[in-house]
Amino acid sequence: MTPDELRAQLAARPAGTALFTDFDGTLSPIVADPAQARPYPGAVDALAALVTRFHRVAVLSGRPLAYLDPLLPHAIDIAALYGLEQRVGGVHREHPEAAHWRPVMAELAADAARQLADHPGVTVEPKGLSLTVHFRNAPAAADAVLRWATAAGALRGLHPRGAKASVELHPPVAIDKGTLVTEWSAGADTVAFFGDDLGDIPAFTAVHALRSRPGVQAINVLAVSDETPEEIRGLADAVLDGPAAVTALFRSLADR
Ligand SMILES: [Mg+2]
Repeated sequence: MTPDELRAQLAARPAGTALFTDFDGTLSPIVADPAQARPYPGAVDALAALVTRFHRVAVLSGRPLAYLDPLLPHAIDIAALYGLEQRVGGVHREHPEAAHWRPVMAELAADAARQLADHPGVTVEPKGLSLTVHFRNAPAAADAVLRWATAAGALRGLHPRGAKASVELHPPVAIDKGTLVTEWSAGADTVAFFGDDLGDIPAFTAVHALRSRPGVQAINVLAVSDETPEEIRGLADAVLDGPAAVTALFRSLADR
């Protein structure tokens, strides 16, 4: 569907519409230093304005809650670290199966720093309950990083997940953006998910599956960039040109 058709669908029945969005690359432009990523100007205010009108508005991200919490007002619910950490109604909570993985992840971060020290430009980002290793500034080290992640993850029973110029390792807890979309859209008759990357595939897949709920319309929106992985293009019902166009859509919905 075109952006105008998408806007019309989302504006048709706001009280029955659940709107979920990824953060990096969807709400927030990709930047060289991930610690500097900020929401596109106007995006947060628009989302916050939609909270009172829509069935549910939530940000689903692989970032830790400590990063997202100060950037998003409490009205907007957050699933951080793919749901391992959540802020719902302003209250912080952690997945009950996640806590005992903290020491494992801390030891993993130390191992990454040791094993990847010979690759300048590779950055290890410990996230408490998960770990991301970035090779955006060291593309030649990609193979070495992926080899380390595969071996180190297998040794500890962790799950690797690919993302843009990075790899993430997660505890084997059965929660991801897909289970979150399914659970948090209960009672909605329209569900929209906005994403841009491989970590969003479970959500895109869950949105497709929601179409089997009677009377439910479910829409996948892809925020495209030069780096959009080929395998997710085919999952999109609508395509928007990055965080700027996503923000423009949210603002137009908020202004109605
Ligand atoms: Mg993203």
